[in-house]
Parts: sequence; C-alpha cells; structure tokens
Amino acid sequence: MYAPASRQLFVFALCAGLFGTSLAQEKVLNLYSARHYQTDEALYAGFTRQTGIKIKRIEGKEEELLERIRNEGANSPADVLITVDAARLGDAHERGLFVPVKSKLLESRIPAHLRAEDWFAFSTRARVIIYAKDALKPAEVQNYADLADPKLRGKVCTRSGSHPYNLSLMASIIAHQGEAKAEEWARGVVANFARAPKGGDTDQIKAVATGECAVAISNTYYLARLMRSDKPEERKLMDNIAVVWPDQNAHGTHINVSGAGVLKHAPHKDAAIKFLEYLAGDEAQRHFADGNNEWPSVSSVKLSNPALDAMGKFKADTLPVGSLAMYRAKAQLIFDRVGYR
Ligand code: FE
Repeated sequence: MYAPASRQLFVFALCAGLFGTSLAQEKVLNLYSARHYQTDEALYAGFTRQTGIKIKRIEGKEEELLERIRNEGANSPADVLITVDAARLGDAHERGLFVPVKSKLLESRIPAHLRAEDWFAFSTRARVIIYAKDALKPAEVQNYADLADPKLRGKVCTRSGSHPYNLSLMASIIAHQGEAKAEEWARGVVANFARAPKGGDTDQIKAVATGECAVAISNTYYLARLMRSDKPEERKLMDNIAVVWPDQNAHGTHINVSGAGVLKHAPHKDAAIKFLEYLAGDEAQRHFADGNNEWPSVSSVKLSNPALDAMGKFKADTLPVGSLAMYRAKAQLIFDRVGYR
C-alpha cells in the first residue's frame, strides 16, 4: 500500500523540517585556513573540547581561499579565515570579506598594534638577520640597513622579493623611513646578493650554514624548528650561525603575524566570535608557542619553549599591523623597480 500523495508530502515536509532544525542546531564552525602547520590540529581540538563546537576545516593556499570565499558570496559556508602575514590579512580586509567584531575580551587581550579594523593577530614571528660566525663580525650586521651596505657585496641571501614575508618587512621600512629611503635600501640589498633569490627561509639558513652566503634573513620559527629538530644534522646546521635582533636601537625588529577574522557572510557568527576569543585564551596562546614556535600576542602568557628561550628577549617593532598591509602594494612596486624578484 502506498500513502496518498498529500500524506507523502506531509511526511516529506516533516522530515525536511526535522532535518533542517537538526542542521541548524548542530554546533559547527567552518574554518578556512591558510596556516600550514601540522601542529595546529591540537589547537582546534582544544576549541571543540571547550565549547562542543566542531570545526570543519578547509585548507588551501591563501589566494585560492580568498577567491573561493569571493565566489561563494552570500552563500559562503566560511565562518572564519585564519592565515599568516599581515599583508595577506589586509588583502582579505580590502576585498571586503571580513566583518568587524566587537569583543571586550579580544580588545583587552590583544594589544592595539596587533589588531586591525576587522581582524586580529594571535601570534607573532620576528624577521631576523642570521650570519655565519666565521664570516662576519656581529658589529657588521646589527640592522636591516647593513644588508644594503656595500661591505656585504656578494654575501646576502634571501627568498623571493615577492614573498609576503619580505613584502611586509619592506612595508615596515617604507612606513618608518619613507619610499625614497626604502627604495635605496632595496637597491643596496639586490646589489649585495650572493645568488638570485630562491627557496624558502630554511633554504637561506642552510645556505649560510654551508658557506654559500655569509648573511640572510629568516623568520624566527624556522630557526627554532631547526634548534628543536630531532634530526642531529638539522640541529648541527645552527652551530656556526648567529642570530641578530635587527634595529634594537631604532624601531625594533620587524615582526609579522598570524591572524584571523570573521567573514561577512558567516552562517555561525556566534561560534566564529567564540573561536577568536578562544584563540586569545591562555591555552591557545601557549599552543602557538609550543606548537609552531611563535610568540603569543598576549604577552602575559607563560611559555615553555627552549628554542624561544634560547633566542632571548628583544625589542619588537610596534608598528600597527594595519600599516604593514597598507604599504604592501608600494613594497611590491619598489621591489619590481629594483629587480628584487
Ligand atoms: Fe612560514
């Protein structure tokens, strides 16, 4: 026997209704992530443990995720975008993807220079100078300006000038010294190259360790990763390398960030804000340090990371993260002009 059409319809409507309700009530957060660190798994698990909200994570390259969010438009399931680099976060802001978040907790935990209009930085990493102890004296490489000094001709290695880490460093130099001085600096660095830019930061560290270059720049967590490596040959790379905190007598060492914002069309806005607040909490903040060797944005958080301890304390540049984003396009134009590819 089959039920009359009207009853079938009713049953269907009832099921759809129930299904719809259960979907709406399912506690979920859709996270689009361009952070590429395996250790982040534990970071997200902590949120689910604390709140009961499941995280559905889509990982991708920054540009792909931004395109995807834009194409999905008002139907986008994405609640939060988390990524590295201030300029990339600034890019998401400029495309109008984020919505401003009002949260007393975030405002009290995250220092003002690590917040932008509609996104927050949850961890920092410093861009430092590293040099071969047998090739240079410490006094020769105390500041970013030294990298452009003719005394270092043929000695400098870096990754590509179009990489966000170098663009953000350049953005900070433009912000502090103006475009003309920044361009002069970039020209000097290019003139000092030991080889055409290639590889990532770890490749520059290796090039210094093996004597291919005397000096390079690197984010601190790549150094910490080698220091804490369980492979003896990786730890050994650091033996002849010294780390310098540049510009300690000026604005301080350039820092970049990892950060996140709530997306304009987020279907689970409350969960999204809860997630950002979780990232600012002690547990998550410690995780950035222990897992990926970054510094927490919340400075009161106590760390236990031998590699970060070994690197010691330094004066960090407190240029607002929004300024790094603002000068990124100019940084790229200048690098193009001086042939920093
Ligand atoms: Fe990186």
